[in-house]
Parts: sequence; structure tokens; C-alpha cells
Amino acid sequence: MADLNIPSAPVIDGARHLHSGKVRDLYELPGGDLLMVASDRISIFDFVLDTTIPDKGEILTRMSLWWFGQLADLVPNHVISTDVPDVVRGRAVVCERLAMYPVECVARGYLTGSGLIDYRASGEVCGVSLPAGLEDGSRLPAPIFTPATKADLGDHDENVSYDAVAATIGADRAAELRDLTLAVYARAEGIARERGIILADTKLEFGARPDGTTVLGDEVLTPDSSRFWPAAEWSPGRTQASYDKQIVRNWALSPESGWDRASGEAPPPLPPEVVERTRSRYVEAYELLTGETF
Ligand code: ATP
Ligand code: MG
Repeated sequence: MADLNIPSAPVIDGARHLHSGKVRDLYELPGGDLLMVASDRISIFDFVLDTTIPDKGEILTRMSLWWFGQLADLVPNHVISTDVPDVVRGRAVVCERLAMYPVECVARGYLTGSGLIDYRASGEVCGVSLPAGLEDGSRLPAPIFTPATKADLGDHDENVSYDAVAATIGADRAAELRDLTLAVYARAEGIARERGIILADTKLEFGARPDGTTVLGDEVLTPDSSRFWPAAEWSPGRTQASYDKQIVRNWALSPESGWDRASGEAPPPLPPEVVERTRSRYVEAYELLTGETF
């Protein structure tokens, strides 16, 4: 497990800290609801950077809430309210506590990332065989469900077959999660496409209410959980331009940063210009998708 160097979560009056991930901090409120706080932290190559991106937590929180609204007729979601303590106003939501299924529900309409690596090794992704000749960024014949198991903090998630998911949570639940994931992807992909953005893939997390109802949890359809590509620049056969951390990744890998990825050390602090361009990219994605001004 890598040393992630996650800064301590802010102390929030009346909320009990439960968990911090790379980017978000989770608290329990009196009565048992959860407070999910999106920080301005950014991670690349599984390192949380020392530099934060101003407003990132608020932008991603607003984007996720907007998407939950777009999906509300497809699946219930865990959001209860945005009435949160002042210290985290704008970048936190109160949500109902679910029993999360131990599956990262990924839908892919395009081939890249770990899907591409698996495809190059075996011609399949998560047990789904794909036609020969696909390249980085190719559109798939149809969107596919490519579940992964949730890794411990600092480890990579591991792609697994649909059958492995069915063995873990039962065939009925597995089918439900697959169908919901593909339905959410189809809806979101269509909305994004109208706005000139390709939704290449997305990761969802579902959980169960005490009565067994399946509910969409976590955050949805943000650049931290999904790949958004400017449609006008899409060209299979290379790394696609994207609305996420590409600016930061490119900088870290450039000679300018002085960082050696093989060293196992975290990348150095980001120059202000890289921070500003990254912030602008998140704002641009938010404004394009929602049609609102940040
Ligand atoms: P990473 O930084 O790699 O995402 P992580 O998943 O441990 O690590 P977060 O995503 O910040 O960190 O943590 C959010 C946690 O809350 C996840 O474990 C997620 O499954 C869980 N979660 C999300 N929504 C709910 C919910 N409604 N009820 C219970 N747990 C939830
Ligand atoms: Mg997570």
C-alpha cells in the first residue's frame, strides 16, 4: 500500500469523522445520516498531491448533485439535503447511510485505461470479449458493464468478471446493478453528447436501504469518477484530451516537474499556472454540462 499522505480531515462540530479517502472526508451526523465532504485535494497516479485545486470540491459537489437530478427517474439516490455546517457549505451533502455493495460498478462506452490494458492482454474486459483492432479511445460496439472490486486505500481497483460479482452478491443483485449501471451510462452519455462531451466511462457505487431497495450512492459523473472527453478532439489511437487531471498528469510526467514516476515518491507541488489551468478545466466541464455559470 502506498503512503498516500492524506491531510487530516477538518473537525466539524457535531459530526464524527468516519473515513477519509483520497479526495473526500466522510462523517456521521447525530441520528446516523452521513455527511460527505469533497475537499480540494487532487490525486494523480494514486498519489494525493500536496497542492490543492481551489473550488474543486465545490465544483464536483455541484456537478454530482446536478447529475443525481438528471437520473432521479432511473434510480433513487442517497442525497437528503445540502443544508450542511458552514465550514463545508457548498462542498458537502447529507446523505442516507446505505449498506454499500462491495462492487465498483463501471460502464464503458469507449476503450481506455485499465480496460485497454486488459483488452490488449486478452481481447476481453471483465470477461466480455471485444472485436479485434480496437485502439486507445475506440468506441465500443455497445456499452459494457465492467465491474471492479474496491481496493484498500492506495491500491488499484481490480477488474472482475460479471460472474464473480454474481457469486459475491447474488445473481439477482448483480443483474440489477448491471442494468442500472448501463441505464445510468446511457442517459448520461446522451446528455453529455448533446453538449459536445464524450462520456467514455463512469464508475458508480450502489448500496441498499434497510428495506432492501437499491440506491445510487457516493458521487456521480464527476471527472474524479468518469472520463469526459471533448468530442471535437476525439481521435482513437492516442491518449484523448480530457476534462480532468490530464493537465496535472502531463505536467508531472514532463521534464519540467523533475519528478521520476519510478521513484515511488509523490510528485512535487504544482506550479500556480498548472493549478489555475486545472481549476479552469473543472469549471469549463461544469458549465458545459450543466449550462450553469459557476
Ligand atoms: P478513494 O479515494 O479511492 O475513492 P475511498 O473510496 O475509500 O477511496 P471515498 O470515495 O472518499 O474514499 O470514500 C467514500 C466512502 O463512502 C466509500 O467507501 C463509499 O463506498 C462510501 N459511501 C458512499 N456513499 C455512501 C452511503 N450512502 N452510505 C454508506 N457509505 C457510502
Ligand atoms: Mg471512493
